[in-house]
Amino acid sequence: MGWSERQRLMLAEMGLSVWVPDATEEMAVVADAPRPTPAPGPAPARAAPVATGAPRDPQSATPAVPVDHPASTATSPVAALDWPALREAVAACRACGLCEGRRNTVFGVGNERAHLMVVGEAPGEQEDRKGEPFVGPAGQLLDSMLRALNLTRDPGPPERQVFIANTLKCRPPGNRNPEPEELARCEPFLQRQLALVQPRVILAMGRFAVQALLRSGEPIGRLRGRVHQYQGVPLVVTYHPAYLLRNLPDKAKAWEDLCLAAQILSD
Ligand code: SF4
Repeated sequence: MGWSERQRLMLAEMGLSVWVPDATEEMAVVADAPRPTPAPGPAPARAAPVATGAPRDPQSATPAVPVDHPASTATSPVAALDWPALREAVAACRACGLCEGRRNTVFGVGNERAHLMVVGEAPGEQEDRKGEPFVGPAGQLLDSMLRALNLTRDPGPPERQVFIANTLKCRPPGNRNPEPEELARCEPFLQRQLALVQPRVILAMGRFAVQALLRSGEPIGRLRGRVHQYQGVPLVVTYHPAYLLRNLPDKAKAWEDLCLAAQILSD
């Protein structure tokens, strides 16, 4: 893949750089840290954990988790809602206990006919305050990655402006893991969003998004790097940006995953 100067700048902003070892080797994208060091020295510093919106568990190290919520909610009345009714239903929802502690529901943002739909996990504190998914440092990283592919959450045509939604629409207290019951109760909303957007590609970020869409408890590391299917729509699995902020070497893998999604979009 050839990189324009603009894309190189974007990748640098994400902490990734294009590395060309010599003329005979293929260009590769590598995470800026940690780099191989020629001489012994202090271990490279890792980014500090991010309290807000941080993933609930380290995803690559997470063992397989049983997925025990219902396989289909196609019969839910939510399946018949249009966009305005769906927004109202989420805003008023009290179907699980998470409604008690939320400041805002986090419906989702972006183009309602986006070609790429990004699905995350659950709102963190800043998302709960703002009512928008992927804000704060994790959101900035996602935005940078999208920008490098000429994609954005900001207003634009459906081929450029993505739609971003979370698996859960309300924040679990203390950033705890979502309960299976909460995921099951909330699932019809995400399913309806996917049905309305009709994306050409889905990017599932983080293990709860993967569990919801693929019914798989496999770790992200075993599922990423290939194309899955969600009801006939190509689906690419990758790490959650909040996880990437704490695990810099996996940034390059996430970038590969985004490139895979972009490649499907361009086909
Ligand atoms: S998390 Fe989902 S199911 Fe639970 S109250 Fe919020 S919108 Fe309703």
